[in-house]
Amino acid sequence: AKADGRHTFRFFEPAMDESARERLQLQQDLRRAITEGQFELHYQPLLGFRENIMTGCEALLRWRHPERGMVPPLDFIPLAEDTGLINEIGDWVMRTACAEAAHWPSDIRVAVNVSPIQLKSPTLALHVASALSAAGLAPERLEIEITEAVLIGDDDVALDILHQLHAMGVRIALDDFGTGYSSLSYLKRFPFDKIKIDRCFVSDIGADSSSAIVQAVVSIAAASNMTTTAEGVETGAQQTALRQLGCTEMQGYLFSAPKPAAELRKLFAPGPIV
Ligand code: C2E
Ligand code: CA
Ligand code: CA
Ligand code: CA
Repeated sequence: AKADGRHTFRFFEPAMDESARERLQLQQDLRRAITEGQFELHYQPLLGFRENIMTGCEALLRWRHPERGMVPPLDFIPLAEDTGLINEIGDWVMRTACAEAAHWPSDIRVAVNVSPIQLKSPTLALHVASALSAAGLAPERLEIEITEAVLIGDDDVALDILHQLHAMGVRIALDDFGTGYSSLSYLKRFPFDKIKIDRCFVSDIGADSSSAIVQAVVSIAAASNMTTTAEGVETGAQQTALRQLGCTEMQGYLFSAPKPAAELRKLFAPGPIV
């Protein structure tokens, strides 16, 4: 439609600085990215600490832009959120991730990031149910990751959606724990199965108060029947410290960077992999 075209904005262009122009261009490109098949998902393994066995993989979105090459998610997801396109993109991510996971061994889950904007849409649970049934994937094999941003303000819709998903058997993980507007009260109100401990605590482990923080999070999780995943594990020393602190799972470059679906499938061999 013409309303979506460049001409609509011409009047404002002289006043626009370079970054605003660039943002507008990227926004127009983003609208085409789904229909033109420019998105792909990479998958990063999550490993259980006890036996070093893969328990799941997180789907991470990649945009192969025709001129710019790979655009990192943090460069376009905020834009997709501002424009509402995240709902359509998020639905594509959910369907694609569920369809891929249906090819994996049945004890491997798939974790999908869900934006706070998606959790404002009352039809989200229906969309997820539809993605699961189209893929033939059991709801127990899907884990959605949400950030603390969901938990602030008027969260009745989000809370209701999360309860619906949880009742279906979908697992809920709280992502980037400790980086947002932390209040422990929401851990009681929301149906979380897992806390993902942000990379900033993992990278400093041993050096400062981070290990005490990790230890506290592990205790809180255990007391509330939640597991913990340490994010961004890059060194053997971090792995050792996190295991001693009682984390359930780890994820990070030490074991594997996110990989395209075809490469990930090669990792599915029986037995310990680290
Ligand atoms: P996140 O959910 O916290 O994902 C983890 C990020 O850390 C990923 O960055 C991953 O590639 C990176 N990472 C993993 N292991 C390591 C490590 O050992 N060291 C370091 N330095 N980094 C590591 P990525 O793929 O660039 O994604 C960035 C963020 O974009 C994600 O953070 C998530 O918030 C968002 N995102 C990615 N895919 C999606 C999506 O499909 N939907 C939504 N709504 N957000 C997404
Ligand atoms: Ca995540
Ligand atoms: Ca995270
Ligand atoms: Ca993050």
